[in-house]
Amino acid sequence: MIRTILSDRLQGKTPTKDEAVRLAAARGEELAALLEAASTLRDRHKGKTVTFSPKVFIPLTNLCRDFCGYCTFRKAPDEPGAKTMTLAEVLAVVRRGKALGCTEALLSLGDRPEAIYGEMKVFLAKLGLKRTLDYLYEACKVVLEETGVLPHSNPGLMGSGDLRQLKEVNASLGLMLENVSPRLMLPSGPHFDAPDKKPELRLKTIAEAGKLRIPFTTGILIGIGETWEERIDSLFAIRELHQRYGHIQEVIVQNFRAKPEIPMRDHPEPSLEEMLKTIALARLILGGEMNIQAPPNLTPESYPLYLRAGINDWGGVSPVTPDFINPEAPWPALAALHEKTAAAGFTLRARLPIYPEFIAQGEKFIPSSLVSYVERLRDADGLVTRELSPKMPTFESAPREALRA
Ligand code: SF4
Repeated sequence: MIRTILSDRLQGKTPTKDEAVRLAAARGEELAALLEAASTLRDRHKGKTVTFSPKVFIPLTNLCRDFCGYCTFRKAPDEPGAKTMTLAEVLAVVRRGKALGCTEALLSLGDRPEAIYGEMKVFLAKLGLKRTLDYLYEACKVVLEETGVLPHSNPGLMGSGDLRQLKEVNASLGLMLENVSPRLMLPSGPHFDAPDKKPELRLKTIAEAGKLRIPFTTGILIGIGETWEERIDSLFAIRELHQRYGHIQEVIVQNFRAKPEIPMRDHPEPSLEEMLKTIALARLILGGEMNIQAPPNLTPESYPLYLRAGINDWGGVSPVTPDFINPEAPWPALAALHEKTAAAGFTLRARLPIYPEFIAQGEKFIPSSLVSYVERLRDADGLVTRELSPKMPTFESAPREALRA
């Protein structure tokens, strides 16, 4: 049965939801066949190139009005580590990243903190603003105009007006769907106290971005209490939005990690097998042309196996981190990523925060305000020009510490 489903998929048929649930039960040889089918589909459409985005991470504010059970990012204003960055701080970090080859500024922030925190209202009022999303626009604009590094923002729910404004200063935007199940918002669920995690609101933001032709990143978070059916429903929901608007540029499959400081500290983490199966199902459900990404840093020991399950992108990798050794040496994680990707038979290439297939569609997906910025950084394949890409070490010459991470 499983082999028939897989063979049909390789001939271009999408599995039904029932077939996908059947595939999720694969074990042993059937699991190996599932991974092989996903891998074959990826190779057929993406070849042997695996991408990553050299990025600088900008936590514009870690204040947030939601309280997701798995979150380590959010802070209340009086908690140690609570921080809203000034524009000068943002620019300083982006300039440091640019000097090291970053072409993406990922602006990540909590959802509508001004709705519950007077401190955020005061911060915004001093700038003549009312909403954090307006401050985000200002930050993206200054990053783009002063550095030429391409912003990609991930600010939570956005309305149509927000999307329209942010599109002018972002190469792409993102919002994780997380999961389409409203059950996760019930008491004791991870999204009980997170009004912005209502699935219908998240689907609406993603659909509005589609109407505005914004290249869009979304994804699912696995292991937060969802069932296999709900996970599969979420992948189908993303598929349907992409079929309608053609704007989903990548889908992230992210695994929940338990940490001592979160409410879900005792919740079991998804196994590696679960992660591999979910990636393979995402590949089969979303098709060979979709860019599928899984973060290597959340499974540091085993992430090369994700290549066997059908991913073609590692997401953002930043050389501007606290464990950065020195500007002359390659960032350890990048060197290791390069080595492990090559060992699996793939070539690692740097991409922009807008994927080549969207660049190729020109002004359909890139506003005229951004065209010259993208053109400056891209090569003929729509990837980062090799002159600008962070230098990858040859393994013989890389510093020993660079290869250890
Ligand atoms: S929306 Fe949830 S995951 Fe995102 S910052 Fe707020 S609490 Fe954290």
